[in-house]
Formats: sequence, C-alpha cells, structure tokens
Amino acid sequence: MNPIVMAILLVVMFAIFGYTVQGRWRLMNVGPATLPFDRPGERLRRMLKFACGQWRMPRHRVAGVAHIFIYAGAVIMLLRALMLFARGFVDDPHFGYWLFTTGAGGTLLGHAYAFVKDILVILVLLGIVVFLYYRVIRQLPRMTLNFEGLLILAILTGLMVTDALYDGATMARYNDPANGWEPLGSLIAMPLRDASAGTLTALQHIGFWGHVGLILGFMNILPYTKQFHEITGFPNVYFQSLAPVGRLPKLEDIDGLLEREETLGIKRIDQFGSKAMLDFFSCTECGRCQEQCPANKTGKLLSPKELTVALRDFAYKNQSALISGNSKQNGNGDGDEEPAPHQVDLVDNVVKPEVLWACTTCSACQTECPVFLSYIDKIVDMRRYLAMEKSEFPEQLATMFQGLENAGNPYSYPNDQRAEWAEGLDVPLMSEQPDVDYLYWVGCAASFDDRSRKIARAFAQLLKTAGVSFAILGPEETCNGDPARRAGNEYLFQMLARQNVELLNGYNVKKIVTACPHCYNTLKNEYPDFGGKYEVIHHSELLAQLIRVGKLKPRQPVNVKLAYHDACYLGRHNEIYDPPREILRAIPGVQLIEPDETRDRGMCCGAGGAQMWKEEEEGETRINHARMTQLLEVLPGSSNGRTIASACPFCKTMLSDALADKGHEDVKQLDIAEVLWQSVREIDD
Ligand code: SF4
Ligand code: SF4
Repeated sequence: MNPIVMAILLVVMFAIFGYTVQGRWRLMNVGPATLPFDRPGERLRRMLKFACGQWRMPRHRVAGVAHIFIYAGAVIMLLRALMLFARGFVDDPHFGYWLFTTGAGGTLLGHAYAFVKDILVILVLLGIVVFLYYRVIRQLPRMTLNFEGLLILAILTGLMVTDALYDGATMARYNDPANGWEPLGSLIAMPLRDASAGTLTALQHIGFWGHVGLILGFMNILPYTKQFHEITGFPNVYFQSLAPVGRLPKLEDIDGLLEREETLGIKRIDQFGSKAMLDFFSCTECGRCQEQCPANKTGKLLSPKELTVALRDFAYKNQSALISGNSKQNGNGDGDEEPAPHQVDLVDNVVKPEVLWACTTCSACQTECPVFLSYIDKIVDMRRYLAMEKSEFPEQLATMFQGLENAGNPYSYPNDQRAEWAEGLDVPLMSEQPDVDYLYWVGCAASFDDRSRKIARAFAQLLKTAGVSFAILGPEETCNGDPARRAGNEYLFQMLARQNVELLNGYNVKKIVTACPHCYNTLKNEYPDFGGKYEVIHHSELLAQLIRVGKLKPRQPVNVKLAYHDACYLGRHNEIYDPPREILRAIPGVQLIEPDETRDRGMCCGAGGAQMWKEEEEGETRINHARMTQLLEVLPGSSNGRTIASACPFCKTMLSDALADKGHEDVKQLDIAEVLWQSVREIDD
C-alpha cells in the first residue's frame, strides 16, 4: 500500500502504546508484589476456560453471547491486523503470510480464515447492536451509559465496516469472482463492480487505512478505558486467588506491624498489592457484580463496580506521583507538611465508610465477575484499617467486640451457659469423653439464641438416633472469631483463633461437624493458617450421608411446600449446594420448590460480614426483607405448611425476623435438621 506511511504509523503508535503500558506496569507495582505464581497448571487451565473460553459469560444469556461474538471477532481480527500491517509493505492485496493467502491462488487455510472472519464481522455487528440496545434503549442500570462506552462501540463498528469495505473494494478492483469463502466481501463487491478504477482504489484505501488507523488508535486508548481488560483480563484470570473463596488472607505479624508503626489494613492506594491493582485495570464495568450485590439491590451506597472504578480512577489520576515515589510528603521541608493528594486516606476521600460497612461478604459479586476480581479481601482490608487503626466502626460492633473479648461470644452471655441448649439430651462433653469420632462445634448462635438452639437440639438428636459418636466442648468453646475478622478486627480474631486451635489440638481433634456455615468456613479454611488442621464437615453433609447409608430413615411425612435458601458461606463460599437438597428430597411429603434466585445466584440473608451485629446501612429496604420476598414468591397463597428452610442459624434469624416484621406468621422458618428430625423421630417423641 504505502510502506513509508505504514512504517511511520507502526513505529509511532507502538512507541506511544509501549510508553503508556510501561506506566501502567509501574503503577501496578507501586505496592507489594502479590501476584501468585504457584500451581501454574491449574492457573493455565482456568485462564483457558474462563478468559479464552469466556466460560462465565453466558450467565447473562443474551449479553454473554453478544460478548462472545465480539470477543471472537477481536481474536480473529488480531490476525487480520497482522496481515494488513504486512500488506502496507507488499503490493499484494491477498497477502496472508503464505498460509492465509486469499484470492484466486489462495490457500485452503486462507479461504477458511476469510470465511470465518466474514461471518464474525457480521456477528460482531450483531453483538454491537445488542449492547447499544442494552445501553441506550433499555439503559440497564448495571451498565454505565457514558461517552466512553459509546465511543468503544463506535470504534468497533468502524473496524468492522472498514474491514468489509476494504474486502469488497479489493474484490471489485481486482475482479475477484464472488465466492462462498468471502460472503461479506462478495456481497459488498456486487454493487461496486461497475465503479471506476479510481473510485475502487479510493474505497479500498479508505477501507484499508481506516481499518489500520482504527486498530492502532484503539490499541492506544485501551489503557485509558475499561477496554484495558482486553489485555489485562487474561493475566488477571491467571493470577486469581486459588485459595478457598471463604478464606481471608491472614494479616501477618500484627504486633510487629504495631511496633514498627506500620498501617494495619489498607489506608492508602499504594498499599494495594500488584494483584489488586491488576484487578482495578481489568474491570470491564459490565456491572454484573453490582446487579447481584444484595447491598446494592436494596439501595445501599455500595456498588462493587463503582468501588473498583473509584479506586482505579484515583490510581490513574495519581499515577505519576505514585510511580515517581513522590509519595511521602509535599516536600517543602517546613515540618508542617500535608500528605500529597495520592497519600490521603482512601476512606472518606475516595470511598465512603458506609460503602465498606454495607458489604455482607456474600461473594455474589466475585461469583459473577467474568474476569475474577476479588472484593471481600479489599473491603475487609479497608475495614481493618478503620477498625484497628482508627477505631472507627459502627457503634453496635463495639458491643460485639466486647462480648467476644470478655465473654467469648458476641451475645455477651456467660460462656458457662453454652451447653444449656442440650439439657435433657445427654450430650457428652469433650472434657468427659474425648475419644469420640466427631467434635460437634455448636457455635454461638445455636448455643445462645433460642431459635437456633432448636437446630442444635434437632441435630444432636439426629446424631444420637444414627448412633454417631460425638461430643461438644460446652463452656470451653468460644466464638471462632468470624464476626470480628469480617468487621476488620483481625487482632481479636487471631486471639480467638489461636485460643481455639490450642484447645482443639489439646484434645487431638480430627473431625469436626458444625451446623453453622460461618463456623464451618473459619474452622475449615482459616484455622489451617493458625496450625488448626481438621476434617470439617457441615451438618448437611453428615446428615445426607447418614440417610444414604440408612442410619437415618425419614419415615414420617412432613407435608410442606418448602423453599430452600442457600447460605452464602455454605454455597458460594464452600460450594455445598446439593446435600441440603438431598436431605429435603428424602423426606416424604416435602415439596421442594427452588426460588428463581438459587444456588450460586441465591441472595444473601443480610447477616454475613458482621452485619448480624450492626444496624443495616441506610437503603430502600432491608436485605432480609428482600430475600424473604423472593422466597415467598415461589410459595404463593396463604395455606399452612409454607416453609422456608435454611442450613445456617444466622439465615434462620434473619429470615424469621423478616417473616415476623412483615406479618407472615403462617410461614415457618426451619433449619434442615429441624425438618429432618420431624420425619425421623418416633411419632410419640
Ligand atoms: S460481597 Fe456481597 S455485599 Fe459485598 S460487595 Fe460483593 S456482592 Fe456486595
Ligand atoms: S468487577 Fe467484574 S463483574 Fe463487576 S463490573 Fe468489573 S468486570 Fe464486571
């Protein structure tokens, strides 16, 4: 075409791109190096599946498929770009690196490529129409309608149109016959066949240079827009955390940090590690996280997407200062220095505290995100700073912290009342009978809350009926520390964790069963960091097993219409979805109905992330009310026997509160153990 113009374009545009990307690279590395390099095989597998294979995209069927079209088009267009760059230097409109040659003397691979490309150009245009419809006409709240989004769609359209124009004009100019290998090119060429040579040359050049210019221009705006994910999305999926979803990273050496006066938690943007920064770069702003976030759904200030965008924009805005290391002070040396703008506290200046305190740590956002951004760790890290450095947290949390510190439970009940729920059931204590198969870890809710005590009683009776050898810790048990940890009080959590691990290891505990998903998650996924390694099993898993082997026989019909609510810390955090359903299906008379929002799309009850111990942040409605409404939608009418079942004492509290608040006294709220016990117990019990 024109080697000089092409050479200048390539050198200039790639030089600018390289300069921009090295800036972003340095920004990514201003904080601690946190990219994980373990288990490369597993990482590669996930990248191929989720980034290259776009596995999470069809969770939104239409938008997902539209995105897959555009993604596939972008991949195929990369090769096309390489061909067009080369055609700038060689005077051959069919050049394709000898393998992908098109035209009369083209190769089979070249024809096949041309065919796939033409089809994808059409599909990409279709995808663009879908996104325009969602953004401009439907104005989906999760998608931001802004200039950037529209500009990107316009550039993509331009790329497709110029590509088709170039092909059509080339075919007409060189009299390439219409053929099935190049359906779109052939179609465009048809009306051009009678045009003058000058017109065809002009159209071919417009198509060619237009396409090349748009590619190189687009490449250069990528790092400034959400489209940067086209590059960073792949490594971001590769470097995702492979730790259990429910495990929070341990804050190491708190005493040492305190002694050195280093920040506990995250206060400033440059304290986020390289993986967090890569997350910020990779957000596609699709809003899938926001759409599933229970806090956002109920009108709270928190939107996970907006949180990322705010942090990312702040990092971008202060990139030069962060990179240059001009990060300590304003530097006028008068000793009365203000922190540089990028050094300010993120909380209040970039993120409102209400945003952080609204999170239930339910992981709905993380489960949805197509590029695997993490949220809970970042939110808790900022809460750590607030709770431990500034002592700024919702006032009700102080009561919970005090309860944990002084009584070993968040209710502040005397801990020696822990085993009162078991009165009359002849449940052994570990101190009396340490050689049992299972330690039943009761947890604070089932120890002290009257509604949850019924879960413990039903479960203990089921274990006894099945002949399982178990014991409880009774007054020796203290809270596992989950509420303190999720509220940012890592110091208190670690104190409780070490104390509990010492106790459990002292009894040489091997297997633990618990009916509380929060206890389950902490004991199973977090205590190994403190030397506590146990086989932890949720009561739903053990009960399902006992039914399977015939040790529990649900015989009595329990005639109820029942909607099961998935607890976040059981489902999304630990992927236990089937055992509770297996139990319910084994009970005669139970008609199990799935709500629309179920399994990994199940909405949080509003208790997690220490929300149980504080007032809900301001919003349009309460999370437990919203969840109850979803569940009642599949239990229409007002007949007796409508039941909401769950497998978590905190879900039980939240949902039964919601039913009481809204006057649905006819609807029962039961744990799966309670439903099963109704069916297993002798009728005259
Ligand atoms: S963890 Fe749950 S509440 Fe927190 S931001 Fe994500 S979706 Fe929202
Ligand atoms: S965090 Fe993930 S789900 Fe949320 S907007 Fe960004 S890419 Fe989409």
